[in-house]
Amino acid sequence: EVRVRFAPSPTGPLHIGGVRTALYNYLLARKLGGKMLLRIEDTDQNRFVPGAEQYIMDALRWCGIEIDEGIEQGGPHAPYRQSERKPMYRQYAQQLIDNGHGYYAFDTPEELDVMRARLTAAKVPNPQYNSITRAQMRNSLTLPEDEVKQLLEGGAQYVIRLKVPRKEEIRFNDLIRGWVVVHSSAVDDKVLMKSDGMPTYHLANIVDDHLMEITHVIRGEEWLPSAPLHVLLYRYLGWEDTMPQFAHLPLLLKPDGTGKLSKRDGDKLGFPVFPLEWHGTDAETGQPTVSRGYRESGYLPEAFINFLAFLGWNPGTQQELFTMQELIDTFTIERVSKSPARFDQNKVRWYNEQYLRAKPDAELAHYLMEALHQQGIEVPAGKAEQIAGLVKERATFPDDLAKEAQLFFQRPTAYDEQVISKKWNAPVAAALTAFAQELTTAPDTTPDGIKTLLTQVVEGQGLKLGQVLQALRVAVTGAAAGPDLMQVMNILGAQETAQRIQAAVT
Ligand code: GLU
Repeated sequence: EVRVRFAPSPTGPLHIGGVRTALYNYLLARKLGGKMLLRIEDTDQNRFVPGAEQYIMDALRWCGIEIDEGIEQGGPHAPYRQSERKPMYRQYAQQLIDNGHGYYAFDTPEELDVMRARLTAAKVPNPQYNSITRAQMRNSLTLPEDEVKQLLEGGAQYVIRLKVPRKEEIRFNDLIRGWVVVHSSAVDDKVLMKSDGMPTYHLANIVDDHLMEITHVIRGEEWLPSAPLHVLLYRYLGWEDTMPQFAHLPLLLKPDGTGKLSKRDGDKLGFPVFPLEWHGTDAETGQPTVSRGYRESGYLPEAFINFLAFLGWNPGTQQELFTMQELIDTFTIERVSKSPARFDQNKVRWYNEQYLRAKPDAELAHYLMEALHQQGIEVPAGKAEQIAGLVKERATFPDDLAKEAQLFFQRPTAYDEQVISKKWNAPVAAALTAFAQELTTAPDTTPDGIKTLLTQVVEGQGLKLGQVLQALRVAVTGAAAGPDLMQVMNILGAQETAQRIQAAVT
């Protein structure tokens, strides 16, 4: 059985990169009939942010990403919150000590600082605690056994580190990147168990993936450098046979391609980077902050998800619009790209337009009626449906429907000056007056009927339709552009249209 997990740390709101990771995991789980887990990785208590966990669950729910096992759902491997699993990790750290792949390190923060400063001064490119440095530090590999025993018994502070071999090639097959080979000299003796008894991300993550029988680890590229360490942990814990397959997703870049899209970019670049609005506090000033969310900005979850699916994946066909079910049916890891994906805010707007317009007019009408009601305008359902069906072609967000609908409830207070100066003249005004008169008694006021009548009247006055259309639009709506004019007049009705024309002519 395929089992995947989304394993966020509740250190703040989920950013769109995180949502994409969750989405790809979900798509794979559903496609292969497997299970999707949500595990909260909250072992780093310094970085814990209240509300973040709830935010993550709300965001996934809004996106339609369903969780099979997790902190809310429970499941055979509960608890799914790492802070509640704390007692389980210790024995694995102990196992590594016992089999010689882990060791106690007693270095104080000051000693570590000195070591790093020395390495930096010596221009060591990537200062590490490794096979070379550990030989000079205070740990159970360098201290006599009885001293170690004494320190432990005396309650000295220590961490448990992984003993990374000095010269070994670590390799694994990444489903997206192919074989990844890293020399062990590039891997730190990472801390597995902190002095407060909490496991680090690395230990807890591997232990949980193993115990929870995870088959595929799909996560962001920023975790690729940790993967060799994880491979070593699987090996030293004796779990290599059931090691999950890795797939590291491509980076998400800023719209101009100049680097990674960060949590802060949204407010800077003027588009949301979070699925839902986030109420946080500024790290420096402590002031409350609000970051925009896709939901509150008027995006439909279907559009947002469709857009995200394409940030790093494509189906290899021309099709761009996919429901969640279609994504599930079509998605494969093989078609996830290695190269970074660039965020494109026009594209996400485009998706929203497509999904908004695809909604039944009755549903949009419901929304429109509510929005107009807020402004004190009451519209019958039938009329709202007609208006929604007409103006949706010009809308990107649901709010645009009410904006575009204003022309039906407000007579023009000003007329587009460009059109007036170019298209308005005495013969045109005369033709419009004649049309307004005919309209009030016209038997057929369907859009086609109106158009036929207009053509007849205008041609009877020796003009062509094209000479009056813009002027007519400005007379009726005030604006130079808008939805189909015949339909506008049809919805307004003959009397109202005629009155507006007369008001413009005089
Ligand atoms: N807790 C890690 C994160 O916040 C999980 C990384 C992983 O999937 O292994 O992204």
